[in-house]
Amino acid sequence: MKHRVNGMINRGRLKRIYKRLKQVNAYSDSYSQMSDEDLQAKTKMFRERLADGATLSSLLPEAYAVVREASRRVLGMYPKDVQVLGAIVLHDGNIAEMQTGEGKTLTATMPLYLNGLTGKGAYLITTNDYLARRDCEEMTPLFEWLGLSIALGFVDEPDYEYAPGEKQAIYDHDIIYTTNGRLGFDYLIDNLADGKEAKFLPPLHFGIIDEVDSIILDAAQTPLVISGAPRVQSNLFGTTKTFVETLQEDVHYKMNKKEQAIWLTPEGIIAANDYFGVENMYDAPYFDLVRSINLALRARHMFEANLDYFVYNGDVVLIDRVTGRMLPGTKLQSGLHQAIEAKEGVEISTDMSVMATITFQNFFRQFEVFSGMSATSKLGEKEFFDLYGKVVVQIPTDKPIARIDYADRVFKGLDNKNAAIIERVCTLHEMQRPVLLITRTAETAEYFSRQFFDRHIPNNLLIAQNVAKEAQMIAEAGQWGAVTVATSMAGRGTDIKLADGVKELGGLAVIVSEHMENSRVDRQLRGRAGRQGDPGSSQIYISLEDYVVQRWGKSKLLDSEPLNRIDDETFEQSRLFQQRVKHIVARAQRVSEEQGVAMREMNNEYEKSLSAQRDIVYAERDRVLDQWDLEAMQLMTLARDVFQRDYHEQKLNNSDNLYAYIYRLISFQYRGDFKDIDLNDEAAVVAQLVTLFKARLAAQYEVIGNDYMFMRFIQKTILKAIDSNWIQQVDDLQQLRSSINNRQNGQRNAIFEYHRVALTSFEAMRESVKVRIVNNLCQSVPTFDKQNKLVIHFPN
Ligand code: ADP
Repeated sequence: MKHRVNGMINRGRLKRIYKRLKQVNAYSDSYSQMSDEDLQAKTKMFRERLADGATLSSLLPEAYAVVREASRRVLGMYPKDVQVLGAIVLHDGNIAEMQTGEGKTLTATMPLYLNGLTGKGAYLITTNDYLARRDCEEMTPLFEWLGLSIALGFVDEPDYEYAPGEKQAIYDHDIIYTTNGRLGFDYLIDNLADGKEAKFLPPLHFGIIDEVDSIILDAAQTPLVISGAPRVQSNLFGTTKTFVETLQEDVHYKMNKKEQAIWLTPEGIIAANDYFGVENMYDAPYFDLVRSINLALRARHMFEANLDYFVYNGDVVLIDRVTGRMLPGTKLQSGLHQAIEAKEGVEISTDMSVMATITFQNFFRQFEVFSGMSATSKLGEKEFFDLYGKVVVQIPTDKPIARIDYADRVFKGLDNKNAAIIERVCTLHEMQRPVLLITRTAETAEYFSRQFFDRHIPNNLLIAQNVAKEAQMIAEAGQWGAVTVATSMAGRGTDIKLADGVKELGGLAVIVSEHMENSRVDRQLRGRAGRQGDPGSSQIYISLEDYVVQRWGKSKLLDSEPLNRIDDETFEQSRLFQQRVKHIVARAQRVSEEQGVAMREMNNEYEKSLSAQRDIVYAERDRVLDQWDLEAMQLMTLARDVFQRDYHEQKLNNSDNLYAYIYRLISFQYRGDFKDIDLNDEAAVVAQLVTLFKARLAAQYEVIGNDYMFMRFIQKTILKAIDSNWIQQVDDLQQLRSSINNRQNGQRNAIFEYHRVALTSFEAMRESVKVRIVNNLCQSVPTFDKQNKLVIHFPN
């Protein structure tokens, strides 16, 4: 029933898109008759019409028809109707589900061209450098022929140092191919610029995200982070680790694995108070203790060795859930990594503070319009809608899918399963049918590869971190008799073409050695076979020792009377057993997927405060960078506000306080200007402070010597004040998040509590930015370097 309704909705959406397709097709014949020059001249004409007020949508049919005809002439490929359908969805800012091999790269050229006409930048965003570069190189001749400029969004060399202005030049192109990581980091870096000339990223106008579900859903756990200075290390990791080992579930603590929540019960709190000899651990001085206990609890109960991380050469190394790959260099934030190190008894590493951070989910909101494409977006439809109000449109394939997806093969133990896989691969190989065997981890892939060599079956093993090589090798997986053993991510985004005669053998056979954590990934893997209507097959193997079952399943479901009565010989063949195991795996996958969704929802909830504050701060920074009018900066008003507040808060009616205040904030060389003033007269004191402030500014102007440099000085000191406070705020929020992950102490709604604290601290931050501005303006020392560039030495 659900499927039918879905199908109906999709057909409804497609109907409107088919109408647009007809409009595009109406131009095909006449454009195919046009000379190259006339066709190329269209770009200029479109741009003129845009300048005259035409909308992009109104240009779409002609523009798409132009790209199609140009593509035929330049690339030798004519975008098919289904590709135009996808291209229409992409311009609308929605998500196009297109199967592997249907040609997403070419599809994207149409909306990129149309949006590139504006000159505001159209982006194609993909998962890795290699894919970005490959697609960019492939499509460059097309765009250049059409008169649009195109660039790779980064210089593809390790640790490349950009010259001043180089990034501006890159982002100045009409069309940019890049990766989510590169663009996201540039966004954060751009918002740390201390001068207009250091900004390089234009407002993000239009972007298409390739493999959108991988980037927005799967990569959600790891936000982009720019690290700052090492953080002062808590010395409590060791003791809190020992303490939590003494606790019992449901007596001292409770947990909800799906929500990744764990919290102390009242008994647990009493135990903690006793253990650490404090009266109430929730009193302010013990903030760090509470945080450390929470981290230790999470480290102990939410993270499992060999499933979530490995201990490798004395380091805790995270594991990518989907691929089983180690993620060296990636660390959990805010002390969690250190808590796991304490749990494992390895040396505790330094926790770095966070200077700037954003999740990919929020990053893409910076785009005026973005859209996405992937082969498996339908399964993420609800999330795309909840997050961005985007719908997923399933684009039909050009030719019907001829792949056969066989039912799973089910085993109890790993050994039997592996033996069956090897046997199956051998059989297929004898027939010369190409086989792609996909495993979750590199270790398993190595194991199978060795087994095949032992049986004199040559095979390609793809487990390297080298995406370029993987892509090449996987492209060859469709040859006669080829056996390719790969991890799930290997060669992602690369199309497998079949050699002559392979179709007759039945096409590529995909065998997956275990279900992945997520059914979307399973589908991606099956989709490696059967591209563009090719024959092919896929089959997934299951055993109860598989990762998803171990991690999420309850194999208790096997302890049933009727099952126990079946003898060992026929056990695995029995229908009851098979059904049970399938049920266990399906359930484990569902739990894992639900947990993924719940976690992303939580992350988003938490991100809301940070993201709202970040928007305010970044907008304020831009305002300062664009401000060249001294009057408009209203520095006197700002200083007066600060002095008025501090008059009360710091009791400036006392002369010792007042002089200390002036030394600290305004001038080291203060020589008593308050002799004739009644210190209890607030207005008089404030007025005198403002006079002092003015005098300091005038003195700074004398040193600097001209209006332009003086404005630069003011901008830089204000930005410095904003940044130092904001960086602190970002880091504090990050810390707060890890400490507030508990439900005791009347904080039934941890997220509410978090937002409350986040808001209060933001208000406080705004005040302290003002103070810092006054201080920076008065007590910074401006100097000039050899190139006569302004260098400011800040007072703190
Ligand atoms: P996807 O990313 O959707 O899996 P690709 O963009 O990698 O697919 O394209 C798959 C293959 O099909 C590529 O070799 C591409 O050159 C080819 N291709 C795409 N569109 C067309 C077309 N309209 N005509 C001919 N070949 C095409």
